[in-house]
Amino acid sequence: MAENPFFAPSDLPYELPPFAEIREEHYLPAFRRGMAEQLAEVEAIAGSTEPPTFDDTIAALERSGRVLDRTATAFFSIASSNSSDGIMEIEKEISPELTRHSDSIRLNRALWARIKQVTTSDPEEAWLLQKYREDFIRAGADLSETEQARLRELNEELSRLSTEFAQALLKAATEAALVVKDPAELDGFDQARIDSLRQDDGTYALPLLNFTAQPALSQLTNREVRRRLFELSVGRAPGNFAIAARMAALRAERAALLGFPDHASYVVADQTAKTVEAVEEMLGQLVGPAVRNAGREAEELAQQAGFPIEPWDWPYYSEQVRKARYDFDDSAVRPYFELERVYRDGIFFAAGKLYGVTFEERSDLAGYHPDVKVFEVFEEDGSALGLFLLDPYARANKRGGAWMNNLVDQSLLFGLRPVVLNNLNVTKPASGPTLLTYDEVTTAFHEFGHALHGLFSKVRFPRVSGTSVPRDFVEYPSQVNEMWVTWPEVLANYARHHETGEPMPAELVEKLTAAETFNQGFKTVEYLAATLLDWAWHRLAPGEEVADAEAFEAAALERAGIAVPQVRPRYRTNYFAHIFAGGYSAGYYSYIWSEVLDAESVEWFKENGGLRRENGEHFRRELLSRGGSLDPLSAFRNFRGREPRIEPLLKRRGLD
Ligand SMILES: [Zn+2]
Repeated sequence: MAENPFFAPSDLPYELPPFAEIREEHYLPAFRRGMAEQLAEVEAIAGSTEPPTFDDTIAALERSGRVLDRTATAFFSIASSNSSDGIMEIEKEISPELTRHSDSIRLNRALWARIKQVTTSDPEEAWLLQKYREDFIRAGADLSETEQARLRELNEELSRLSTEFAQALLKAATEAALVVKDPAELDGFDQARIDSLRQDDGTYALPLLNFTAQPALSQLTNREVRRRLFELSVGRAPGNFAIAARMAALRAERAALLGFPDHASYVVADQTAKTVEAVEEMLGQLVGPAVRNAGREAEELAQQAGFPIEPWDWPYYSEQVRKARYDFDDSAVRPYFELERVYRDGIFFAAGKLYGVTFEERSDLAGYHPDVKVFEVFEEDGSALGLFLLDPYARANKRGGAWMNNLVDQSLLFGLRPVVLNNLNVTKPASGPTLLTYDEVTTAFHEFGHALHGLFSKVRFPRVSGTSVPRDFVEYPSQVNEMWVTWPEVLANYARHHETGEPMPAELVEKLTAAETFNQGFKTVEYLAATLLDWAWHRLAPGEEVADAEAFEAAALERAGIAVPQVRPRYRTNYFAHIFAGGYSAGYYSYIWSEVLDAESVEWFKENGGLRRENGEHFRRELLSRGGSLDPLSAFRNFRGREPRIEPLLKRRGLD
């Protein structure tokens, strides 16, 4: 097995995983060897007879499990971005083993006894020590043997169900695709788009994106085809309803074991929100105004359509109203948003102005797919900072949405510099340049905000590196980075016509920014509905069984006052991967919670002259570079100079 590339650190620059050498058969042996090695390391730490110190206990745990870490990081990145039947099989097999492994560390009584005795006076160490204690208590370290045995069972079943949920969704994206025989039914798409959907058997298939309102609904002129597409979207992977209900019940039982009234209370306890009441107070302030806004928008759309609209009509007629009112639509701006230029002259340009960093493509370094681009990032003084990988295109074997993950965590402990990856799901054109929608441009800036959080990390320990912050904090820096999308100096630099090089005409820019508040009622309601659905599932008391998940979903939305007939939740239960296949259970509220800090910070940048090197430096020093190495709200206060207030957010969303 000497040739298994995971057994030794990668010798590529920045320890980039050697994707060219990694084969599927390497994963299982590497996972198993990695787990065995880490268990031996943990046994040695727990079995020591010396009085425990920070270094021989906490730092030693941070140093443990290197093979496992390398393997898991590469594997789960591939499982999300470039999966295969083989990868899916491995994931199914390894997920419960990994859960057992992590339980066997956190439920190790001798280890826990030593951690409880560690003391330190160094602030960064003290914060990490506190994180470890919370992690262990929250994982059940203080429970009895019988309780721990039940906890292990619950964790394993949850991990198995979560994998099943995700895999059913990945299959549904193509299996539940809209298929038409006659291309005339795709009226509204341009010819290039239609050609790209053509399959070998002569039919045309439009795969589902992972949220409810498929973007194609804004273009397809045939109302019946829109209805079919919408029904396919909300009805996909129907088996997932039962999985979700089962997971919610198991999570409630686990919360009770750990001493919490429900899963939501358990989750928020180590977030910046801390209590369910704080979350509910926040959401309560938003629901009423958002529903009223959406109601007004629905009336406008009905006027435009000449009949009461259905959910599958909303995107189409809102696009019509937008055209009528602002005289622009996506097809007018797309020619100015060419993918490479958006990065080079927009995203990288803004980062240069703010943080002094520069980017150089490294075509000698390979990602896991030919479409992945690798960039080396340099500081202002020319020193090397890390690698940024970009995987922009949608693929049948890639999960939906956009996200960032680390391929190498920055840490001073190992002297490692960061390698971060951004994934988007842009449709790859059959030929010619890749032109983005305005939403896709915004998403690209957003994900790059996460990338900066990873790249600028300058902390000692991997556990708190980069984006290892609470979920209700992690979206904050990425949302701040969205402010540069329409910042005049940035926009003027990247929004240029892909054929003529002409800058976007001033009146189009004006329309683009004027239209920013357009359709906010819809956007806020579809987001809040998903948030409150997540919340309802995870506020279930232990023992409360849900037999009919669809009926539960409808009742929950009704009860929360967010049941707007024309606006369905951004995710329904059956495809809510964030909460049933990702880390966001009882955490989807995080986006709007983070937006409070985001709106505050955008205000700060504007008060201080916007796109300036000193401003970037201040944000980087106090916030981006600190990762999770201190209390996140302290980092915010150090940056902003005051406690966060909700008013800037209400104003921005037109909810004040
Ligand atoms: Zn994000």
